[in-house]
Amino acid sequence: DVEEARLGAARPLDVIEGPLMAGMDRVGDLFGAGKMFLPQVVKSARVMKTAVAHLVPFIEAEQAAGGRAPQPKGRIVMATVKGDVHDIGKNIVGVVLGCNNYEVIDLGVMVPAAKILATAREVGADVIGLSGLITPSLEEMRHVAGEMEREGFTIPLLVGGATTSRVHTAVKIEPAYGGPVVHVVDASRAVGVVGALLGAEHDGFAAGIRAEYETVRRERGDRRAREPRVSIEEARANALRVDMGAPVPVPTFTGVRALVDHPLADLVQRIDWTPFFATWELKGHYPEILSDARIGDQARSLHADAVAMLERIAAERLLRASAVVGFWPANAVGDDIELYTSTDRAGLAGILRTLRQQQQKPPGRPNIAVADFVAPRTSGILDYVGVFAVTAGLGVAETAAMFEAAHDDYDAILVKALADRLAEAFAERLHELVRRELWGYAPDEALSNVDLLAERYRGIRPAPGYPALPDHTEKETLFALLEAPARAGITLTESMAMLPAASVSGIYLWRPEAAYFGIGRIGPDQLEDYARRKGRPLAEMARWLAPNLDD
Ligand code: SAH
Repeated sequence: DVEEARLGAARPLDVIEGPLMAGMDRVGDLFGAGKMFLPQVVKSARVMKTAVAHLVPFIEAEQAAGGRAPQPKGRIVMATVKGDVHDIGKNIVGVVLGCNNYEVIDLGVMVPAAKILATAREVGADVIGLSGLITPSLEEMRHVAGEMEREGFTIPLLVGGATTSRVHTAVKIEPAYGGPVVHVVDASRAVGVVGALLGAEHDGFAAGIRAEYETVRRERGDRRAREPRVSIEEARANALRVDMGAPVPVPTFTGVRALVDHPLADLVQRIDWTPFFATWELKGHYPEILSDARIGDQARSLHADAVAMLERIAAERLLRASAVVGFWPANAVGDDIELYTSTDRAGLAGILRTLRQQQQKPPGRPNIAVADFVAPRTSGILDYVGVFAVTAGLGVAETAAMFEAAHDDYDAILVKALADRLAEAFAERLHELVRRELWGYAPDEALSNVDLLAERYRGIRPAPGYPALPDHTEKETLFALLEAPARAGITLTESMAMLPAASVSGIYLWRPEAAYFGIGRIGPDQLEDYARRKGRPLAEMARWLAPNLDD
């Protein structure tokens, strides 16, 4: 059709600026009106990109002969910040902006501030967009904002990604930069925000956001002032006391075991599809979402594409999954968990550091630390703790690059989203194997997939970077214990993001009392104590734990 249109057009550029843009405008309008959904938009963008790719040689030939170049509505430099590797959301936003005739210069992942700023200058960017998923990226975004200020930028800064929020943007990022700073909650908002920031009413829009964020800051300050906190000594005196009397189940092995190139077929059945639909901004619970009156058609179509892609992944071995799991004799010592090389506790394999809740609790409610779920060394009871890391992302970068080279952002995003799902499924499957066989404390457990995904089993697998274990640097300890880089091909970036992105790591606790919780805000007394225990400079730990500290 594109070739036919080109032959009928006065100039090849007319095909883009005529029918193709008219089509994408319609897609944009329908998406904005909630009548079209993200998977359709990304698929439409694939058609657009393929069509443009066909026209480019003709347009270039014409330009060489003095013709006009295409005119985008604006130029946007986007990047996942230094230390972070997650880019699904960024890529989706890039596609959506691209189909609205913005020129997107996507710098990829792990991009240092200097490169973002230099590129923005070089291309004359109208907007910079920063993305990130893990909490250390929040500090990196603040840093980029500060660098923009220092270098005299005035263009708008957009912020997005899983742990970013309006509150964080208002409290930590906006004060660092004099230009407009806007948190973009999802791809469906990106076009509206960029349009407003670059449109005729941009001053009014920016002033409105500024006033809104000022209110957010004030309200949060008030809220925080009303949250009383106890000293770390008081919190420890109010620790959770678990009855340690039950016999401790002994794992079938101690030390580390690897599951290299684990069959994907064993993981597919454990996929939790609900977050997959959320990635594509289709909100609803699986499987009910498939028959939803409004989005059921879209959900079914996306699901069918996903199932077909999973078959292709398996047939062409596009992704590989590996895991490492280990068990060690262990005891709690204060708020730490010591892992021993043998049952006589003579040698240390490693020490996991945990933080303790410090908010003032109502009577009868403890101030919990993960260490409270492990028998204290002083009890005389020898306990056990497990550690794991899994990935399903081996090969994902190459596979996504292959699709991107074919102008196929839809399949590139699809394969990344599926790699994430397979990694979570692997974490679920491995945990199941651990309970039933490797640790073996629940050999007769027989739960449905629904019950497994609802985590209705005994024991938990808290992950560093999540609310109960907010310190991402604990992954260094886990990875060293597991030799995860060598045995499973998973490494850590300078921000403690796992690479490949489709990876999960954490610790296993077997006790029935073990439950997920959040540490919340901690005081300077605990920060100091924690930095000392970890043997790291206070300022460095303050940076890692910034989301849990007072502003
Ligand atoms: N089925 C979901 C599972 C992921 S989220 C999916 O496919 O996406 C659940 C996991 O997050 C838990 O198993 C645990 O590893 C981690 N987690 C959740 N809450 C936590 C908390 N408060 N502290 C530490 N880790 C937590």
